[in-house]
Amino acid sequence: MRKINFSAGPSTLPLEILQKAQNELVDYEGKGYSIMEISHRTKIFEEVHFGAMQKAKELYGLGDDYEVLFLQGGASLQFAMIPMNLNLGGVCEYANTGIWTKKAIKEAQILGIDVKVVASSEDKNFSYIPEVKFSDNADYAYICSNNTIYGTQYKEYPKTKAPLIVDASSDFFSRKVDFSNIAIFYGGVQKNAGISGLSCVFIRKDMLERSQSKNIPSMLKFSVHAENQSLFNTPPTFAIYMFNLEMAWLLNQGGLDKINEKNTQKAKLLYDTIDSSEGFYKGHAKSDSRSLMNVSFNISKSSDLESIFVKEAEEAGMIGLKGHRLLGGIRASIYNAITLDQVKTLCEFMKEFAKKHA
Ligand code: PMP
Repeated sequence: MRKINFSAGPSTLPLEILQKAQNELVDYEGKGYSIMEISHRTKIFEEVHFGAMQKAKELYGLGDDYEVLFLQGGASLQFAMIPMNLNLGGVCEYANTGIWTKKAIKEAQILGIDVKVVASSEDKNFSYIPEVKFSDNADYAYICSNNTIYGTQYKEYPKTKAPLIVDASSDFFSRKVDFSNIAIFYGGVQKNAGISGLSCVFIRKDMLERSQSKNIPSMLKFSVHAENQSLFNTPPTFAIYMFNLEMAWLLNQGGLDKINEKNTQKAKLLYDTIDSSEGFYKGHAKSDSRSLMNVSFNISKSSDLESIFVKEAEEAGMIGLKGHRLLGGIRASIYNAITLDQVKTLCEFMKEFAKKHA
């Protein structure tokens, strides 16, 4: 029996995608071989590759002014590629809202770039999204859309004149986004849109001009990947195949507005359970910064109860609930593939647990 999987990433996938992949694993569309066993230069793979790109753009409603890149090295490589390709020798500004922005800041600093942190929520253990104001003339302005560990999320992105860079790894393809000032929107796809091994980067074409002028190795250069339609070298073909299935699944669900509706319902149910527990459960994020994707919380009475919670939840068929090692406590990641019924099951378990240990 499949478990209800609240893992933060890699995370649960829609069952129908897994089953389709299983059906096609040995013999892809009656061809007599697997999609993993053929060249990325074949028409068959190209259909998957370009089909995935086209669907990804369709979901966000993007036109010709953006390029989609399929890259490797996880979201973490983007922490370095972005400053490498986009800095103009001026100041690169960051809003520090968690470990993943700290890591991004560090990579830019390693490169010797002039980094300015314009806002931070580190004073309160990253439990809120701070007010963020970027300079108009920054080389770029960098945020992380959803902070996976702390369970905070921007409701709206800061308005900027500087090109806005968004790490959307943990709320990728979960809601529509206003792209009017976005220059790069990127993430590893293993949480909300596929499996590990693939990063998807939406890049506005004027940023490619910045990249072109840089003297950096080819594999690290956005413009090289764009010119080669992300086929400069052998791409992670199976991860792209899975991503393509995921894109089709999202379109079938009715697109990102529909998915967002479901995600909002799921999160409300879980936060209501925390809020109505008479203080038994305590959410980490301030209520106006709460994430629809990762719900991090503690059991007020004692942290010992948290390990019992995780253990008993596992016995009840629910996995992946242990909080990140940096924050402790409990975290339920309720990405696109988690259903409302699965969240209901967790909420029922939480109510019973609180009653038993009150
Ligand atoms: N950004 C965010 C918001 C993340 O949650 C993560 C991974 N959990 C990363 C970046 C790093 O991703 P990767 O492991 O793909 O390098």
